[in-house]
Amino acid sequence: MPRPIQALIHPAHLAHNLARARACAPDAQVWAVVKANAYGHGVANVFEAFRAADGFALLDLDEAQLLRELGWRGPILLLEGCFEARDLELCSRLKLWHAVHCEQQIDWLAMHKTHEPHRVFLKMNSGMNRLGFTPQAFRAAWTRLNALPQVDEISLMTHFSDADARRFGEDGIAHQMAAWTEATHDLPGERSLSNSAATLRYNQRDEVRADWVRAGIMSYGGVPDYPEHDMAHWDLKPGMSLRAKVIAVQHLQAGDSVGYGSTFVADRPMRIGTVACGYADGYPRHANSGTPVLVDGQRSQTVGRVSMDMLAVDLSELPQAGFGSEVTLWGQSSKGAMLSIDEVARAAGTIGYELMCAITRRVPVQVEALQA
Ligand SMILES: *Cc1c(COP(=O)(O)O)cnc(C)c1O
Repeated sequence: MPRPIQALIHPAHLAHNLARARACAPDAQVWAVVKANAYGHGVANVFEAFRAADGFALLDLDEAQLLRELGWRGPILLLEGCFEARDLELCSRLKLWHAVHCEQQIDWLAMHKTHEPHRVFLKMNSGMNRLGFTPQAFRAAWTRLNALPQVDEISLMTHFSDADARRFGEDGIAHQMAAWTEATHDLPGERSLSNSAATLRYNQRDEVRADWVRAGIMSYGGVPDYPEHDMAHWDLKPGMSLRAKVIAVQHLQAGDSVGYGSTFVADRPMRIGTVACGYADGYPRHANSGTPVLVDGQRSQTVGRVSMDMLAVDLSELPQAGFGSEVTLWGQSSKGAMLSIDEVARAAGTIGYELMCAITRRVPVQVEALQA
């Protein structure tokens, strides 16, 4: 029998979340962002659910290739563009659209031999200082690209650093919007600005509205601005549930400790369950005692340190729970109770993005059947 742990993917929820992105940006086309193996869900596992997207955005060429093998003939965008000149050959062959964020990428394009010119997304560094041309250099880059026979349409793109919160006490996107608008207002081409946070929080504004939104975390039911808002507020549903089982029960007396380092000491008699989930499955080792879990759909919490293969949960208040009980680490229990990945992430000092991406290979992934 396999070890009782499983990541369950919920295609109906993924499709619902993607529809939410569309509803937030009704005039825009929607990129389903599937980088990092679809935020840990598996590109092939989310493909059917995200088929209603206008395109798929990602970073890795092998994931782009997989999408073509799965039969996707629509747009695919490489968000970081090419990493070396010969990547352009694959772009030509697979008809990939690609970001252009630096002079080297333009040099490679200028030397590239292709029958069909490429669609590119010229990226502006409007203030995040990660990728892109500065507003001052943007027009020259556009002019250079526009003169190349290898280039077909040029679209314009930027990325927000603070769309999920305020920045220095101000609206989080104001500084980047000012730089963007000034540098692009008279350039032709389609625009793509918003990630999930901006799609949810700002897309009703005229100046933010664009031709393409890039829906990442929200498509998976992660809330970019948790705890200011939660899943219910944005009407999102978990794309993944991590579930395991209680494989042993221990009875503690006051003074007994639990796990490595004896970081948890019972102050009263307790009953605890040992769960078949540890940091080698991707559960965060830094989750503190007290991190929420669902046991048979009822809320409880972890006790003591997370070890490689196991963690402990408090069963003292759950007399029906015991050996074999289902433990939902995040997502939805089989009875429909919800535990937000963002809440678990917060207890571990991280964000839902990291937990999703961190599910390890030894965890069997199952895709729920899509109900009609
Ligand atoms: C990852 C990524 C996104 C999606 O961001 P979310 O916060 O997950 O919505 C959008 N744009 C770019 C350029 C990205 O790298």
